[in-house]
Amino acid sequence: MYKNTEILYKRILLKLSGEFLQGANKFGIDAKKILSIVNEIKFLVNCGIEIGIVVGGGNLFRGSELKKIGISSVISDNIGMLSTIMNGLAIRDIMNKNNINACLMSAVPINGICMHYDWKKAMDYLSKKKVVIFVAGIGNTNFTTDTAACLRGIEMHVDIVLKGTKVNGVYSCDPEINLDAKMYKKLTYQEVLDRKLQVMDLVSIILAKDNNLPIRVFNINKPGILYRIITGEKEGTLII
Ligand code: UDP
Repeated sequence: MYKNTEILYKRILLKLSGEFLQGANKFGIDAKKILSIVNEIKFLVNCGIEIGIVVGGGNLFRGSELKKIGISSVISDNIGMLSTIMNGLAIRDIMNKNNINACLMSAVPINGICMHYDWKKAMDYLSKKKVVIFVAGIGNTNFTTDTAACLRGIEMHVDIVLKGTKVNGVYSCDPEINLDAKMYKKLTYQEVLDRKLQVMDLVSIILAKDNNLPIRVFNINKPGILYRIITGEKEGTLII
C-alpha cells in the first residue's frame, strides 16, 4: 500500500517528554497516551524505520523543581534521571506487549532492571530494527534529556531528531500566552541561539549545530504525525 511513498528518514531519534507521558494528568504515567504513540511507532517499525527514543522525566520529577524545595542539586538531578528510567520501563513494557522488539538502555548502570548504555550494542540493535529506548539522559547532572536526544542522535548516526511538543512547532514567543506568536517553518541553529528561542536548551542546539544534525519540532498529539514527517510532510519547524 505504501510502496510508492518515499521514506525520507531511515533512522530517527524520537524525544518523548515527561509532559507527553503524563497525558491529561498532572503527575505520573498515562498508559493510554503511551499506547497511542506506541501504535504509531509500530507502524514505522513495520515500514523498516530504525528508531531510537530518548525519554524525559518531567512527569515524575524534574531536578530544577526539587532544587527549589531544598533538595541538594546533585540529588535532585539523580532523582530526575531515575524518573526517566521509570518512564522507559513503562514504555518498553507497553511496546513489548504490543509485539514491538524493544530494549531499554540506561546511561546509569542499574543492574537487574535494564541494560547499561553500550554504543556498539545500540547500533547493532537499531540495524536489526529493534527499537532502542535510551534513559537516564546522558548520565550526568546538570543536563537535560533534550541534550541526551541530540547526543544519542549523533552517536547513533540518525537522520533526524524528532522532538514532540504540545504545540505545533517553534514560535516567536509562547503561543499559549501570546495570540500574536508566530510559528517558524524553518530556522537555522544560529537563529535559535540568537533569538533565544525556548525550544531546547543551548547545549542541545550547539551539539546539533556542530554535528549538522537536523531537528524537527512538532505537535506530538496530532495522530499519524510521525509517518507524515518521515514521508516528507513539512509538519512543525525544521531546525538545520
Ligand atoms: N537529568 C539529568 N541529566 C541528564 C538528563 C536529565 O540530571 O542528562 C535530570 C534533570 O534533573 C531533569 C530530569 O532528569 O530535570 C528529567 O529530565 P528532563 O527535565 O529533560 O525531562 P522532560 O522535560 O523531557 O520531561
